[in-house]
This record gives sequence, C-alpha cells and structure tokens, in this order.
Amino acid sequence: MSNQQQRSIWRPYCQMKTAPPPLEIVSAHDFELTTADGRSLIDGMASWWSVCHGYNHPHVVESVSQQLAKMPHVMFGGITHEPAERLAARLAALLPADLNHVFFADSGSVAVEVAMKMAVGYWRRRGQANRQRFLSFTHAYHGDTTGAMSLCDPQRSMHADYGKAILSQFHCPLPVDEITEDACHQLLSVHQGEVAGIFIEPLVQGAGGMRFHSASTVSRIRRLCDEHEVLMIADEIATGFGRTGTMFAIDACDVVPDIICLGKALTAGTMTMAVSVACGRVFDAFWSDRTGDALMHGPTFMANPLACAAANASLDLFESEPRVEQAHSMELKLRMGLSPARSLPGVVDVRCRGAIGVIQVESLHDVEELRQNLVDAGVWLRPFGDCVYVTPPLNLPDPLVEQLCNTIVDVMGKRQPIRLS
Ligand SMILES: *Cc1c(COP(=O)(O)O)cnc(C)c1O
Repeated sequence: MSNQQQRSIWRPYCQMKTAPPPLEIVSAHDFELTTADGRSLIDGMASWWSVCHGYNHPHVVESVSQQLAKMPHVMFGGITHEPAERLAARLAALLPADLNHVFFADSGSVAVEVAMKMAVGYWRRRGQANRQRFLSFTHAYHGDTTGAMSLCDPQRSMHADYGKAILSQFHCPLPVDEITEDACHQLLSVHQGEVAGIFIEPLVQGAGGMRFHSASTVSRIRRLCDEHEVLMIADEIATGFGRTGTMFAIDACDVVPDIICLGKALTAGTMTMAVSVACGRVFDAFWSDRTGDALMHGPTFMANPLACAAANASLDLFESEPRVEQAHSMELKLRMGLSPARSLPGVVDVRCRGAIGVIQVESLHDVEELRQNLVDAGVWLRPFGDCVYVTPPLNLPDPLVEQLCNTIVDVMGKRQPIRLS
C-alpha cells in the first residue's frame, strides 16, 4: 500500500505512521475472514463481539435483502415502521421487569450518551436538577464519544489527552466486598444529591481490561443505587445477547437496572445500531403535557429499517437455535483449550466466562508481532493492553474452537519469553 493510501484513512486506535498496514479482507463467511491474498482466518473476536451467529447467516442475509428491496431507510422523526415496532416489542419482552421503553441509537457510544441524558433529564424533571454527574468503576469502558469517554477509567483510558473537554465524573473500585462497597457508599454520601446514576458493565468489563466480577458485585451496586436513590445503568453493549452465557448478563445476577444499553451483537454484526432501554419510572418522567419535558435526541439514521430487520432476524435465531446454551457451554471448551497457556512464561491469568476467553500476560510489548504470527497461523485476533482475548461467534463449532485455542497457545508458546520491562 502506498504511503498516500495509508494517509487517506484515519485508522482506529493506532499510530498510523509506525503501525504495519491493515490487513485487507475481501469477504467473510461463517467463521472465517478471507484476505486479499486468498488466505482464510478464523475470526476469534467476531468483529469486536458483534457477529454472534457467524458471518452471512442465511436468515439474516435474507431478512436484510427483503428489507433492502422494500425500504432501506426512512427518517424516524414523525414516522414509524413495522421492523422498529416489532423489534422494540421483542426487546421489551426479553428484558426483565418494566425495561420496556426503547430508544434507538446508532452506535454503542451514542446509546451511552442517550442513557446519560435520560438520567440527568429524569432527575431534573423530578426536581433534582443537581444530579448531573455519574459514578463509574476502575477498568470501566463505556465508549469513545466525549460523554461516554468521561465514564471510562481515567487512569487506564485511551483518552487521557483531552483535559477539560471531558466531563468530570466520579470513579471508584468495583464494590467486590464490604470494604470496597463501603468506599463506594462514602463517595455517594459525600456527593449526596449530585449523582444521577451509576454505570456498570455487569459481570465482564470489556475494553478497559477484560476483567470479570461476580453477580454479588452487581447486586451490591443495585443496593447502593437504591440506598442513595441513584439510577443504575447497565452497559450491556458487549455482554448482551448471550455472550456471558445468559441472554443478558443481568439475567445471571437477578438484578434489574433502570436503564440498559445494548449494541454490538444487536444486529448480529451486520449494521450499526444500539439501543437504550428505560424502565417505566424513567420513561414516565418525560411523558407529560409539557413539550419541554420531551427527550431531545434523534439521530438521522435512528431505527434504520435494515438494522431493525437484521436485529429481528438475529432474535429469530436466538429463538430457533440453542445460541445461548452454545455460549454457555463454550466456557468449558475455552477453559480446556486455553488452560495450557497458564504454564507459558509471562502468563498471569487465564479466565473464561461464557464465550469469552482471556489470557492475561505481564506485558504485551511486541503486540504487532504477536498479531502477525497469529495471522500467519490462520487466526484473527486483536490483543490489547495486557490481554490476548477471544470473543468468537457463539456458535463456533468445536473443531474450530479447538483450532483457535491450540493456535493461540502454540503461537504464544513460540514467542520469545516475555521480558519484564
Ligand atoms: C463497544 C462498547 C461501547 C461503545 O460502542 P460503539 O458501538 O463502539 O460506540 C460501549 N460500552 C461497551 C461496554 C462496549 O463494549
């Protein structure tokens, strides 16, 4: 690729001047990506957690094609359509309690922004206009737009650059035990009346470090929210749709948040769409005779019919195929497949939950070389931070799970032992 070509596109999360050129992919099918030079790679990360049924699932392709012929898009202001109506009703039915009020956003980060606006707007309409800030946790990741960035772990975020352009929020360690719960409690007490909501990625924190916590931690957060009367906002953009072994991570915690954000696998990895779903009391705060009480937000491509058709088709597959059970049972397979990595030099931890496998190492200073070696061995992964992780399609067949795990262990084992810097 010429230098000029490399400068014409801004690449995500990458120093373009020194990074190797991106891998050109020409097609994707089932569980594999095909490179421009004709190689097939197992996609170990399902295109950032999104391709939950594998690429080009015929039912999804068929549904989107039919919608494409009928109406690829129409604005959502003052207009509605069947794909959106049906999807909203289905999401409401899948989610617990009265999480019934679906706002269609165009990406995960925007869904987080909308949830922030819902929370602050909720309190203002309830006469508590000072509740404008949020609490989030160490290792949190909630997105890349400026509002969402403010919720990311400020120490470990990819966004340390921006100073006062980013809102100032409250951060503390996850309440994993009584001591950390008490610290959280103290923080909320000191800032009584200032906090609109707590953001949590239930059970699995994603891009902020691929860390797991227990259902009891999520319950503690719900308790803290109730005690301090703040909203609980579950960011299930990564964990939603089976990834952790239940349809939603909160299903395994017996906890109902006030707002939940979903994205990534929502459209089975075909189209950009996310949702923020609010409970009755949040929705009702905006439901009034005064126009000024409305929620003022509306992306141009809100509830895009193609994306809704893809999401509806994906939900069909969750109904007709044992997708969630497959994710659940993948945990044991990944555990077995990745556990040999425990004995490799520099490996700190190997952990799996649902269809997520993480190998944490001391440091990954030769990450480009590792990525290249994995590609040469037929696997696509994107190690980052101190983790080599897999989030494959939930229905990745056993032989490919084996091949994926064996290749990772093999390639990591052949590396130079990791030096402690
Ligand atoms: C990916 C992700 C986001 C952001 O979603 P985008 O679609 O990339 O904007 C937010 N929160 C979590 C937990 C995520 O994994």
